[in-house]
Amino acid sequence: NTTKKTVKDYIRTIVDFPHEGILFRDVTTLFADPRGFRMCIDQLLHPYAGERIDKVVGLEARGFIIGGAIAHQLSVGFVPIRKKGKLPGKTLAQAYKLEYGEAIMEVHDDAVQPGEKVLVVDDLLATGGTAEAGIKLLEQMGADIIGCAFIIDLPDLGGRKRLEALGMDVEVLCE
Ligand code: 5GP
Repeated sequence: NTTKKTVKDYIRTIVDFPHEGILFRDVTTLFADPRGFRMCIDQLLHPYAGERIDKVVGLEARGFIIGGAIAHQLSVGFVPIRKKGKLPGKTLAQAYKLEYGEAIMEVHDDAVQPGEKVLVVDDLLATGGTAEAGIKLLEQMGADIIGCAFIIDLPDLGGRKRLEALGMDVEVLCE
């Protein structure tokens, strides 16, 4: 079979992780494959060809893997947005809702300068709560968010609509 594999073909689904009834989309199989990983990074960058990007922002934790590779490809800096308590310097914090309870994302308060053009990346867009927290942090710093790019969108969970309602350009590789 010589049919060319797509990004989606490298993503594995794990049943009942992290809880019963959840289908977890596992991108470690995509990242572990040399063709899969390169294809994923190339395709995430494709919509932004010719656009100025000053920094790539990755959401913990899988957003660090793709964000680092994209920043290296563009020869620009990388900025992590992390779960509370992980960043050593002075941070801005943003709470967001989880299925049960609340979580907090943080960013170093000097990581992005006002007017800098940033691309936000993560592996998967579900409700959009995580990305929205990141967007709010970046907006507080005066960043110009040129787009949000994800490998996977789960359209039933409404994340894309939520981010588009904030005025974001959303790009995804598969649903
Ligand atoms: P949201 O905040 O949009 O509801 O959830 C997205 C966040 O949860 C992302 O940071 C993503 O990494 C993680 N996430 C939720 N479900 C999955 C899944 O099935 N697979 C992977 N790889 N990440 C998930």
